[in-house]
Amino acid sequence: MVTEQLYELFLQHPVISTDTRKIAQGSLFFALKGDTFDANSFAQQAIEAGAAYAVIDNAQYRISEQYILVDDVLTKLQDLARYHRKQLQIPVIGLTGTNGKTTTKELIKAVLSQHFKTYATQGNLNNHIGVPLSVLSITNEYDMAVIEMGANHQKEIEMLCTISQPTHGLITNVGKAHLEGFGGTEGVKIAKGELYDYLQATNGTIFINTDSPVLAEMKAARNLQNTIGYGTKEPGNLITGKVTKNAPYVSLEWSGSNNVSHEVDSHLTGAYNLDNMLAAICIGTYFKMSDAEINAGLSSYQPTNNRSQIMQTAHNTLICDYYNANPSSMAVAIDNISTMDAKDKVLVLGDMFELGDESAAEHEAIIQKAIAAPVNQRIFIGKAFFDLKPGFSADFFETTDDAIKALKEKPVKHSTVLLKGSRGMALERLVELF
Ligand code: ATP
Ligand code: MG
Repeated sequence: MVTEQLYELFLQHPVISTDTRKIAQGSLFFALKGDTFDANSFAQQAIEAGAAYAVIDNAQYRISEQYILVDDVLTKLQDLARYHRKQLQIPVIGLTGTNGKTTTKELIKAVLSQHFKTYATQGNLNNHIGVPLSVLSITNEYDMAVIEMGANHQKEIEMLCTISQPTHGLITNVGKAHLEGFGGTEGVKIAKGELYDYLQATNGTIFINTDSPVLAEMKAARNLQNTIGYGTKEPGNLITGKVTKNAPYVSLEWSGSNNVSHEVDSHLTGAYNLDNMLAAICIGTYFKMSDAEINAGLSSYQPTNNRSQIMQTAHNTLICDYYNANPSSMAVAIDNISTMDAKDKVLVLGDMFELGDESAAEHEAIIQKAIAAPVNQRIFIGKAFFDLKPGFSADFFETTDDAIKALKEKPVKHSTVLLKGSRGMALERLVELF
């Protein structure tokens, strides 16, 4: 079926399902392939559970008119999203970057929502499936949308831009993550830069953190003209700001072109969130929102997503930052707990995945940094850290299970604890032990 035809069906059935356990009544089911399954074989189940149509790419499963045969289900989902986006006449803010995409996206949404009906990517749906699903969720009722785009290899952001078609965008920062798939740090720059390339080619507007030398270099290399700056200094910026307090939560002071300065208290821990907040302020200001609306949006945001979040337990103060980790975000998280005014501090750090050849060196650098940090105890979890154990005096566990066993025997109490590691380390399993 051609995309235009499928779009007609989508207009009548504007909800997409991809999981047979969560079929929305009257939805279009897309039979996407997973690593271990072929959802063509679930199509019938989806129809029985209430899907109006099932989009499949294996003719063998086509047992009635309700089964729509296409060449490739994933490509068709992406094409449909691309087509839908073209019909929407609204600004779309696209964002990518190494760290802080989800947090920045949530902050932008919190700010813009004070004035505009704003759609934003839900959770972390930022890949080749998540972006089309996000775009297809933007209904006519929205005034604008904020779309998070993630990548772990080249040309991915370029492709996601053709789907989300951002009119405005930003790269939060360029750091060390997915080094394996990108081919080192230089590769990260090229991959993230695909957003700048897209916006430049389509006369879009780029919000840029002027404190970042890497972003400045990327701007210069492309001779980008249509940029709006935010950061701590540079006079030409639309917005400048600085951290005024950072323990445990960040407060910042900012001012725009009217030179009136404001102080805002956030519910986020970590000075690195200054960048994330300034991006949201910059975008709100650019879209002509009042300072009061912007401040209300920022201070309303409460993280509940295990990123820069503080949790008080019966025995400890937990810095829940275990949603993910890479060398850049690990380093700033260690800096953050180091600045905290607590008597006893503990680092619980899990392996950082997808670092390829640079894995051992990056893990060693983090161990060194942790050893130098003003904390009382350091607990390293995972094979990459464990392999480096000889020579360091700290607690090392090869697996999360081993760490759980040890922590049960010797619990940590009356401390401020940073919990951080890659998603696959599942450090959330440790929370109940603190
Ligand atoms: P993912 O690649 O998983 O989608 P993300 O880019 O969306 O990640 P967040 O989920 O917002 O990023 O944040 C993940 C972690 O990155 C945070 O818990 C924090 O440790 C760190 N972080 C957030 N913002 C910044 C920043 N501006 N600079 C450096 N590190 C940051
Ligand atoms: Mg994210």
